Amino acid sequence: MGKVYLTGAGPGDIDLLTVKALRVVQQADVIIYDRLANPDILVQAKEGCEFIYVGKEDSHHTIPQDEINEIIYQNALKHKNVVRLKGGDPLVFGRGGEEGMYLRERGIEFEFIPGVTSAIAVPEYAGIPVTHRGVTVSFRVVTGHESRKEKSQIPWENYKTDDTIIFLMGLHNLDKITQKLIEIGKPKDHPVAVISKGTTPEEKTVVGTLEDIYEKAKDLPTPALIVVGEVVKLRDQLNWFEC
Ligand code: SAH
Repeated sequence: MGKVYLTGAGPGDIDLLTVKALRVVQQADVIIYDRLANPDILVQAKEGCEFIYVGKEDSHHTIPQDEINEIIYQNALKHKNVVRLKGGDPLVFGRGGEEGMYLRERGIEFEFIPGVTSAIAVPEYAGIPVTHRGVTVSFRVVTGHESRKEKSQIPWENYKTDDTIIFLMGLHNLDKITQKLIEIGKPKDHPVAVISKGTTPEEKTVVGTLEDIYEKAKDLPTPALIVVGEVVKLRDQLNWFEC
């Protein structure tokens, strides 16, 4: 029986792969990877390494999660070093926890290898710090995926604070998200940024307000994330990557 490395691939820029992740990729017998993991990482694998694509778009899976769990497990029965490569960090909306549990129940050894999460790195490449002295003392990372459900689990009322709010998987719900935030009392001119394909050469940031960001940003390509908060204004002074 092999060991599974539930590994973060970082947000896009291949240089943001951790040294530890690179090491396990180089030793892997099989790499099971997602759409959001930069495929250029695979050239680092040794000769004879097998590649299995279980691509998924946002939370719409082309292969259901229980099938992915089983694919990982079956490969751990066959191979010594199994790398499960996921975009960003494996435990930030990455379902790495479920994969770990599935393997534990079947007696397969695993390790988590943290990755640089898009939630922080993508705003950072856009020149938007998620916290900034004198502007905000905290940030939240929230799923933007479930906002269309009738009964949202998101405690919107808690979002009245000055926290920076980062929505992942939210572009297709941008109108709902901005509407909700206005409903709970945020000013219509509250700053918002949408960042598409962050940390890659195609990165594009669009800045607006709760009122106009939907019209400005709705057609941006995915993956994209939404940053809400006064920190967005700091981009005027800190933009460095898209210059
Ligand atoms: N585990 C990942 C997040 C998975 S959820 C992480 O830690 O980064 C997938 C969502 O992440 C996407 O819908 C998008 O909102 C965001 N995302 C991932 N990579 C991104 C990128 N390069 N640019 C913008 N958003 C990105």
